[in-house]
Amino acid sequence: MKLAALGEVMVELAPQASVQEQSGGSKPLLAQSYAGDTYNTAVYIARGGVSVSYVTLLGDDPYSEEVLTRLAGESIDTSAIARLPGRCPGLYMIQNTPDGERYFTYWRGQAPARELFADADRREALKDHLRSMDCLYLSGITLAIMGADARAELLAFLKEYRAAGGRVAFDSNYRPRLWDSAEAAREVVAEFLQQTDMALLTFEDEQALWGDKRAGQCAKRNCGFGVSELVIKRGAEPVLLQYEGELTAIDVPPVSSVVDTTGAGDSFNAGYLAARLQGASPEASIAAGNRCAARVIGHRGAIIPRAEYLAADAE
Ligand code: ADP
Repeated sequence: MKLAALGEVMVELAPQASVQEQSGGSKPLLAQSYAGDTYNTAVYIARGGVSVSYVTLLGDDPYSEEVLTRLAGESIDTSAIARLPGRCPGLYMIQNTPDGERYFTYWRGQAPARELFADADRREALKDHLRSMDCLYLSGITLAIMGADARAELLAFLKEYRAAGGRVAFDSNYRPRLWDSAEAAREVVAEFLQQTDMALLTFEDEQALWGDKRAGQCAKRNCGFGVSELVIKRGAEPVLLQYEGELTAIDVPPVSSVVDTTGAGDSFNAGYLAARLQGASPEASIAAGNRCAARVIGHRGAIIPRAEYLAADAE
């Protein structure tokens, strides 16, 4: 089984500690890393034993080089990643606010990943690569950063890809700041859900995007879009599965020490897809998604060091 994940990976700067300044104030010490929703998912799917190709565009700077090195270190195929001369990846910074929340600031307007599917020559080569995959994974963030024309090209390609037997997995990952309006986001997301086989949605995002009061509304809407396999994540609340006409709630095992929920939904998706693509039932795949997410939320940051993750897997 082979899966390609499409999207953006960014440079991350996150506060690790603060140091006192002589003036009496304090300044944060920042840890530099790499993350992005589809990138996080790609990493954990690969760790779950499925062949993964990551599809994005990068620059020719040292940070882009490091992204490629990290992907290769996870045995992820980077052959479909285009490099744009003179460009560098987007950046985001995390701030801990006084009320204990985390605030994200992004510098990603010039990111090369925004040109995904935009260049006609590159697109044809990329389509050939994608046709060799059993499953394609993308998110609402992937769609939000793309240009409208490129998005239309991708949508047309997904129709052809599915008609030839390929499967599409999608997480809406609604981030209002990336869209002109909620209405614009709904229009695009609805088009892509109509080309989705496996929708792995977070109820909070669905509420923000569609104004759902109850999960049943979310299930009904996605049924209308023709999604055949729908998973609704709700934090520690039971995961909902709509499959073969039935809506089932599957408990999330309690996690004793939740350290940082960054990447919870991304890693859940990875656990689910890795299991599902290797033949597990949707119910068993949800259990695998819960296990993967439980491990990730027990650590700081979206990506647990590989050796540590695999050691826990072997236990
Ligand atoms: P997102 O990261 O997209 O906001 P959720 O918060 O819904 O996604 O969480 C995704 C998955 O992570 C859940 O389905 C569950 O498996 C796991 N998870 C999240 N929060 C908790 C928690 N407090 N306890 C146990 N599992 C959790």
